[in-house]
Amino acid sequence: MTERIVVVGAALLDGDRLLAARRSAPPELAGRWELPGGKVEPGERPDDALVRELREELGIEAEAVERVPGEWPLKNPYVLWVWTARLRPGSPGPEALQDHDELRWLTPGHLWDVPWLDQDVPAVREIAARLGAQ
Ligand code: C5P
Repeated sequence: MTERIVVVGAALLDGDRLLAARRSAPPELAGRWELPGGKVEPGERPDDALVRELREELGIEAEAVERVPGEWPLKNPYVLWVWTARLRPGSPGPEALQDHDELRWLTPGHLWDVPWLDQDVPAVREIAARLGAQ
């Protein structure tokens, strides 16, 4: 049996706004929106991976706040875990440096304006409920 590998995703919040990132690669994911993140490396703590991925992909200094309960299957052997996260004081704002070609801060009434990756939808639904959105 293959070990599963955790992919971490960040629901980065600024007040009640959620950051959505549009993937530019690979071709089958390009144009769809996701919670930014990536694969946990061997021996790495998932919340450390989250901070590292956000630094690499968006150039921000962030901290994981709270795990969103649940685990969502991706392409075998990957599973998605999500945390809420926030910018550390003094962090630069997010920039699309790698993997993404557009970023948007979505207010609660606009969370469903972008075509999320199917596998991210349950996590976004959970965040929407927390923000009191539909
Ligand atoms: O970003 P990275 O390529 O490291 O992500 C690994 C895999 O996890 C990608 O193939 C992507 O399909 C998936 N992923 C996802 N939802 C996210 C982040 C990554 O499905 N929010």
